Amino acid sequence: MSDHMTVLVTGGAGYIGSHMVLALLDAGHQPVILDDFSTGHEQLVPNGVPVFRGNVADAGLVAEICNSYEIDAVAHFAASIVVPESVSDPLKYYLNNTASTTRFIAACVEAGIKRFVFSSTAAVYGNQDHNPINEDASTQPENPYGTSKLMSETILRDCARAADLSYVILRYFNVAGADSKGRAGQLSQPATHLIKIAVEAAVGKRSSIQLYGTDYPTPDGTCIRDYIHVSDLIGAHMAALAHLQADGESMLANCGYGHGASVRDVLDVVATLARKELAITDAPRRAGDAAILVADSSKLRRKLGWTPVYDDLQKIVSDALAWEQANP
Ligand code: UDP
Repeated sequence: MSDHMTVLVTGGAGYIGSHMVLALLDAGHQPVILDDFSTGHEQLVPNGVPVFRGNVADAGLVAEICNSYEIDAVAHFAASIVVPESVSDPLKYYLNNTASTTRFIAACVEAGIKRFVFSSTAAVYGNQDHNPINEDASTQPENPYGTSKLMSETILRDCARAADLSYVILRYFNVAGADSKGRAGQLSQPATHLIKIAVEAAVGKRSSIQLYGTDYPTPDGTCIRDYIHVSDLIGAHMAALAHLQADGESMLANCGYGHGASVRDVLDVVATLARKELAITDAPRRAGDAAILVADSSKLRRKLGWTPVYDDLQKIVSDALAWEQANP
């Protein structure tokens, strides 16, 4: 295989997948998108990128893609991702994430795909007593979303062992921000994540923000999360692809910076950068929220040579804010 790669990006019309497509184009690779557009957006697909509209579980479609393009690797982003929805509708998550991913892996093995980068989540860890969390921590998901991803990880690992398939599993902490050049960002409606919700409030799309819990055992009483800029997250995927292309071993790594910010920290940064006072309502704790979730990302740095470039909450928020202002 030459240095040039053709990469099948599932969920390539979504928030994170669209940033992957841009990074592949920027690096001179060829992305091919598979997306069912249930939550993806045409607006996020750059001109000239081939798009197959359909589901990852459609073996015939995956075969057709692999017959049309010589796929060197897949990056599998397509999934349902809303934690409270997974609690009220677990079957959606087991079908759309676990079952569809199983079918997709089967189709990839059938087509002779050799490299697989999988989007997993810190939700597989559940509540942990110790932070930062490294990859050896126990997995005890608190919700069906986390379980659906953990099951997918296991299935991928077992199938890779039995086939000529290498993988990198990336467990994302809190992904936020937008492409610094304004080419992609989060369009998903309704917003469910803190930074997206806060910048929507800052541009007047919503009147107030609920702050879920002010009595946590943290310095300011609000939850602490490890927010990672979406472009740094994609940097990890590009490093994973290079690792697999160089015949590196299958592996699993956390994606985060290794330090956290509280909900109040985030809201302060948003208010400062937007030069607007935010209407914040203190609300009860949200079910299932851990007090502190911070990644130990030393493995990602050590094994994949990942070096973040946007490790700055102000940068994450300002890119999210710029995207929100440009895409009302
Ligand atoms: N949060 C909040 N108000 C909101 C959304 C989130 O106070 O409208 C808090 C939430 O309780 C958590 C943190 O912000 O402590 C990050 O939540 P988010 O849903 O963004 O990500 P999660 O960590 O749940 O994956």
